[in-house]
Amino acid sequence: MQDINPQHITNVIRLLNEHGIQTAAIFEPIGCTFHPSPEDIIKMIQDSDAFFARECGLSKKDYQDWKAFLKTGCRCPATTRAGTQCAKRVKNFTELSPQRYVERRNQGTLFCAVHQHTAHS
Ligand SMILES: [Zn+2]
Repeated sequence: MQDINPQHITNVIRLLNEHGIQTAAIFEPIGCTFHPSPEDIIKMIQDSDAFFARECGLSKKDYQDWKAFLKTGCRCPATTRAGTQCAKRVKNFTELSPQRYVERRNQGTLFCAVHQHTAHS
């Protein structure tokens, strides 16, 4: 990434805000709305994963794992009898906030409705 002059960005954002121009935005679907301060915006630009991870109260690694999981379509990791990966999505995948993802991954419950019951038997 090109060099960013944090002070310059801060000044520009302050100028925008002083003139009633909103810089609040959601850059990623982290499940909450927030209003970034000029300092926040610099942190977002410099390392957005680290920034959003902190917003979620997660480690950067966990946050990136969550993003990667969404990218794969939230697929159930179980292996079918045919030896292929289950084609279903994990149960309640629409409720997978970054925090919920980490919680279920750690609990070992990131499976579809069918495999959730069989994975631990
Ligand atoms: Zn499954």
